[in-house]
Amino acid sequence: MSANAFDLTGRTAVVTGANTGIGQGIAVALAQAGADVVLVARRDPAETRRLVEDTGSRAHVVMADLSSIEPCERIVAETVETFGQLDILVNNAGIIRRNDALDFSEEDWDAVMDVNLKVLFFLSQAAARHMSGSSRREDTRGKIVNIASMLTFQGGVRVPSYTASKSGVGGLTKLMANEWAPKGINVNAIAPGYIATNNTAALQEDETRNRQILERIPEGRWGNPSDIGGAAVFLASSAADYVQGHILAVDGGWLAR
Ligand code: NAP
Repeated sequence: MSANAFDLTGRTAVVTGANTGIGQGIAVALAQAGADVVLVARRDPAETRRLVEDTGSRAHVVMADLSSIEPCERIVAETVETFGQLDILVNNAGIIRRNDALDFSEEDWDAVMDVNLKVLFFLSQAAARHMSGSSRREDTRGKIVNIASMLTFQGGVRVPSYTASKSGVGGLTKLMANEWAPKGINVNAIAPGYIATNNTAALQEDETRNRQILERIPEGRWGNPSDIGGAAVFLASSAADYVQGHILAVDGGWLAR
């Protein structure tokens, strides 16, 4: 094994929601660290594929709609078929719906909870069955990295299902760590702060909210998807073998304020 504990050479990572934003940033960072990457997306992630292959790592695309658990076992099976194993799962795909709590619809509740929480759990379950099964590699631990949020810790406004889902991600991260640590799997989460992506376009365009957000961030800027990559590489690597059930904020200091 490499003397560099952050080296991911020889590992296979699955990243969901890999065609844009944070998922693209994480896929590229894992590839730069040496991992082959399976890009799970519902639209062709051509740009991410090119960026991953430019690092010298291999990329494979699995097209899947993660609004139901139907594709979960197929994603794991296709990954193992293509690269021989699945070592790292990054549950990044997520959506947000905004409306006043008084007017919030059941449709907006279910849509967000399904992608952000239900599929995250059942894809983790499918991956963990492989990681803890008889085909598991002896020389590395399985790694599951969930993408949480500031709303894993705070309440937010006008995003009730998002807050519920991301608070749930925090709890599930700890539950899965408790159950799967003895099976050779690390489960942790990253809580990004305010990152400039499609997810936050409405906030960036709202002059008042944009100013209020920037005033509170000690770093004084929105984060970029590439700001999340280092934390993902760390949690996916053997450098984090003794880190379990942790929610790592990468927020420019937002929570410290
Ligand atoms: P984004 O650019 O909108 O990325 C979300 C990704 O999830 C997209 O690739 C999207 O695919 C994919 N996705 C959504 N629903 C899907 C479905 N049903 N099936 C397959 N893929 C689906 O926004 P982002 O900010 O990078 O979000 C990534 C993660 O970070 C999310 O979990 C989000 O909640 C979290 N997060 C973001 C921030 C932030 O400030 N931006 C902060 C905290 C947490 P399409 O491109 O096809 O829609």
